[in-house]
Amino acid sequence: MVSVTLHRARRVVPVDRPVIDDGGVAVARGLIREVGRFADLKQHWRGPVLDHGEMALLPCLVNAHLHLEFSALKNRIPPQPDFPRWLTATLAEADRLSPYEREGGLEMGLRELWRFGIGLIGEVSNTGLSLEPLRESGLDYHYFYECLGFDLQEDGPLARDFPIFLTPAALQDPHFSAAAHAPYSVSPALFRRVAAWNRRRQRPMAVHLAESEAEVEFLHTGRGFFRELLEARGRWRDDFRPPGLSPVAYLHSLGILGADTLAAHCLQVTEAEVELLAREGVTVILCPRSNRHTGAGRAPLGLFRRAGLPLALGTDSLASVEDYNLFRDLLLLHQDFPEVPGEELIAWATLGGARALGFEAELGSLTPGKQAALIGVTPEAGADFWEGLLAGGAAGLIEWLATPDEEGEA
Ligand SMILES: [Zn+2]
Repeated sequence: MVSVTLHRARRVVPVDRPVIDDGGVAVARGLIREVGRFADLKQHWRGPVLDHGEMALLPCLVNAHLHLEFSALKNRIPPQPDFPRWLTATLAEADRLSPYEREGGLEMGLRELWRFGIGLIGEVSNTGLSLEPLRESGLDYHYFYECLGFDLQEDGPLARDFPIFLTPAALQDPHFSAAAHAPYSVSPALFRRVAAWNRRRQRPMAVHLAESEAEVEFLHTGRGFFRELLEARGRWRDDFRPPGLSPVAYLHSLGILGADTLAAHCLQVTEAEVELLAREGVTVILCPRSNRHTGAGRAPLGLFRRAGLPLALGTDSLASVEDYNLFRDLLLLHQDFPEVPGEELIAWATLGGARALGFEAELGSLTPGKQAALIGVTPEAGADFWEGLLAGGAAGLIEWLATPDEEGEA
């Protein structure tokens, strides 16, 4: 006889179906068995009951875009009026970090992700430093090793310039991908090499896309902040001819965009470009607090929703947010776009990210057969349910109620 634990809560938020009042989740051997009204579950299962009172019960959250290795920059970069100033300040601070500080930041970052109910992340790293700590952390992840190289103009195997792609960690783990940093820091040849490495293995690709006005200016004219930055970093090439295209049109012309593409930000886009992204099946990762902090602006969420674009949520790094609490991003989205239903917001922070990172069969919703990675949020009183939920989560009233490992051992 399988031992079943029944979780009961004032509200259960399954994500793939409407909220259940006085709901329950039956869990056995680390997997969800049934989700429904608690009264019904009690008829179907015998086992200990964990009553979580007034809490709302949700699947763990998914932070689909962050850079753990910059966690040591927490509280070091104040909000900036524009993206170039933010990037300048961040690069200067990052250059000053000692290896000891970086490592300490990683550990702190991992603890913080856990504390805020995040069970799956899309980690973007350009050093590989976060790989070992992540493996040991128990968090689920998809690892994007990020390539930069505006001056890498020649074709050839990716591993020639980035030897990590020859290691067993990269070759054997289906949750290891190549990422291209951004259109202003990656040559056309390098974009193609990154995409080819991933597509040969059917793995997703991450990119920062259309984040700032400076990026648009650079691709149209070859001038401005990013030209100066590339020159200062010794990466500029005199034979560069700007494509004269917008960021989205440029990546489309390179054949990069597809259903395997996770594009962070996408603020500088037209309606036609959003429709193009939707046609190609690109997932856009919203990072609302980061965009405010860097002075980049706001994503055109109305256009995204009208086009039916797949969306997920990320914090980006602690150089542009105070913490990894995704509920604070959701609360900001709710304040900026009050017309978006609460169910939809929560879905971006759960199922949307799980789909984009290839974990849809295991995580992202409270669905029988998926992992029992359950969190509870104590809603703040007074407001309507969704506002109370977001406010409670933003205040950090988040607890882990079950993890697959703990249940699997029982
Ligand atoms: Zn990023």
